[in-house]
Amino acid sequence: MEKGLKDPEIADLFFREDPEKLFTDLREIGHGSFGAVYFARDVRTAEVVAIKKMSYSGKQSNEKWQDIIKEVKFLQRIQHPNSIEYKGCYLREHTAWLVMEYCLGSASDLLEVHKKPLQEIEIAAVTHGALQGLAYLHSHNMIHRDIKAGNILLTEPGRVKLADFGSASIASPANSFVGTPYWMAPEVILAMDEGQYDGKVDIWSLGITCIELAERKPPLFNMNAMSALYHIAQNESPTLQSSEWTDYFRNFVDSCLQKIPQDRPHSEDLLQHAFVLRERPESVLIDLILRTKDAVRELDNLQYRKMKKILFQEAHNGPTTETQEGDEEPEHGPGHTGTVSSVGSNQSIPSMSISASSQSSSVNSIPDAADDKSDHDLEKDHTVMSNSSVIHLKPVTRQMQEHEQDSELREQMSGYKKHSKRKSLVELNENQSTPKKEKQEWLLKQKENFQHYQAEEEANLLRRQRQYLELECRRFKRRILIAKHNVEQDLVREELNKRQTQKDLEHAMLLRHHESMQELEVRQLGTIQKMRTELIRLQHQTELTNQLEYNKRRERELRRKHVMEVRQQPKSLKSKELQIKKQFQDTCKIQTRQYKALRNHLLETTPKSDHKAVLKRLKEEQTRKLAILAEQYDHSINDMLSTQALRLDEAQEAECQVLKMQLQQELELLNAYQSKIKMQTDAQHDRERKELEQRVSLRRALLEQKIEEEMVTLQNERSERIRSLLEKQAREIEAFDSESMRLGFSNMVLSITYRDLGL
Ligand code: ADP
Ligand code: MG
Repeated sequence: MEKGLKDPEIADLFFREDPEKLFTDLREIGHGSFGAVYFARDVRTAEVVAIKKMSYSGKQSNEKWQDIIKEVKFLQRIQHPNSIEYKGCYLREHTAWLVMEYCLGSASDLLEVHKKPLQEIEIAAVTHGALQGLAYLHSHNMIHRDIKAGNILLTEPGRVKLADFGSASIASPANSFVGTPYWMAPEVILAMDEGQYDGKVDIWSLGITCIELAERKPPLFNMNAMSALYHIAQNESPTLQSSEWTDYFRNFVDSCLQKIPQDRPHSEDLLQHAFVLRERPESVLIDLILRTKDAVRELDNLQYRKMKKILFQEAHNGPTTETQEGDEEPEHGPGHTGTVSSVGSNQSIPSMSISASSQSSSVNSIPDAADDKSDHDLEKDHTVMSNSSVIHLKPVTRQMQEHEQDSELREQMSGYKKHSKRKSLVELNENQSTPKKEKQEWLLKQKENFQHYQAEEEANLLRRQRQYLELECRRFKRRILIAKHNVEQDLVREELNKRQTQKDLEHAMLLRHHESMQELEVRQLGTIQKMRTELIRLQHQTELTNQLEYNKRRERELRRKHVMEVRQQPKSLKSKELQIKKQFQDTCKIQTRQYKALRNHLLETTPKSDHKAVLKRLKEEQTRKLAILAEQYDHSINDMLSTQALRLDEAQEAECQVLKMQLQQELELLNAYQSKIKMQTDAQHDRERKELEQRVSLRRALLEQKIEEEMVTLQNERSERIRSLLEKQAREIEAFDSESMRLGFSNMVLSITYRDLGL
């Protein structure tokens, strides 16, 4: 059946009985964004209670339902003499009936009745009570978030009660944009994105409430809500205007209104403040309530008298004109006072929250039942109000105006027929008590009076209708302006988001480009280096091969030369042999000649007989000497041959040795040279790689820096755009509203809720 009631945890939040059967005498005593609050009596105990009816049907029903659950859960949790006592909740026809202890009215009602500020001790008493309630909430980590005079109630015995937990937060810190503009703390206004705040926001609102009680309106109340928000967030804190207040009070308000939450005292601290601790009569609030009741009674009587007068005149008007009198609202009698407009402008300002749905129902959603009150009901209202012990601190007029402002048009169109019953009654009374002639005269005079009055009223009616139309036009224009603003905001947001996405894409592309470039460069460098290494390897190989070939050739040449040498040796040997032979032959010849000479000499000197022996001896001698020579010859030949061969061997060996060493050296040189080249190349490659790395990381850093800078610029541009748009819009609205004010439309300014104040 009902939403979420299958969940036992949710179902347990509500009583099952039918509230229609449990509560009687319902009379509306206040209303806000969600619907209306009623005075009622519990039939079982005759106890007087207040019932806040909250509908969760129609648009955004789910959000409304969630809001109800939130408020009920919150009320169930809290219990403190300074917060409203919760008695339970019922469901009927998509409406939650939230039953609470009954209060006489709010601090805002007091201001409304008296039309002047409260006295300082009264403010101190109200503030003291509210502060105790807040200290309780804050000590349990809860935040009220909508502290204002309209949400601080008073009971018959003069107790102060915090009420309206529809905006409260069950946890602290919190960050949603919740509250009523003029009372909002700067950090709530600035918390739109990710900022956080805590119970100190209630302290700020309490400070504003103090000013409200002292000056009847919160600061900046003449501005439109949007401009006020800017003002609060950007400018100095407000202070008490008049110098009549004590320093205690001023100091109290100033501490509440410290812009920086850390500088603002906690509720506990403020409970020690002289402003609230200072002695004051215990009966302050009871006296205030009595005073207010008297004033209400006075106002209601006045109203009743006015109504009577109108009824009386109506009674003499006859049935033909009855239908013309379309708009006989009680306040439009000849004795019309300033009440209407001032009460009208005090229409409860809806508190707002981004998440809450209730705000969007705005002031225009007053239950039909309220509009259809019959004549009988009105009279009953009046008597109950004045005679019973229950006097709500709002005059009847105001309560009626609260519906009538919205049903104005309907009433104007359909005619004010509610008093017909009473009219005949009055007529009858008058008729019975007057003598005939006087009666005639009196009737004539009355008729004249009446005709005059009728003409006047007709003119009034026309004027009012025209005014109403103009007002509607103005409202419509204003709505259009706000719709235009919303569209502008949407467009700007969309454009900015698109640009952001574009930039993000561009950056992603740049990074990707950078990465592929880096990859390419690394790959290219790798290829180049590999090629270079390969080239060097090939070159070295070739060099080595060449060198080895060269070596071989040199060795081969040497060997050939040696072979040649060896081959040439025998020739030289033979010529040397021949030389020796010739020397030998020469020696032999010389010897032969010397012997011949010697024989001749001996033959001459020796006797002939001895010749024979001498010749023989000589012959022998000669032969022996020749043999020695021959032997010598052989020996020297052999000698020569052997030394010659030895010498050749040795020389060749040495030559081979030298060549080998030389070639070895050359090879070693080549090797050294090549490995040096290799090392140099390796080093070069290392260097190149490092350079590339550096270049790439520098480029990356530059790119990242550029991206970062662009993001910052974009972000700045974004906030600048949004800020200037919002400022422009605020200016437009302000201009529109001040024009409206100039043209005499005053109380429609806040009737349209901003859909969304954050971008
Ligand atoms: P909203 O969330 O719309 O501000 P509230 O809870 O503040 O609703 O109720 C709106 C008005 O109804 C209050 O300003 C007050 O005048 C009246 N009201 C609320 N609760 C009570 C109550 N318990 N007793 C008497 N009047 C009440
Ligand atoms: Mg309220």
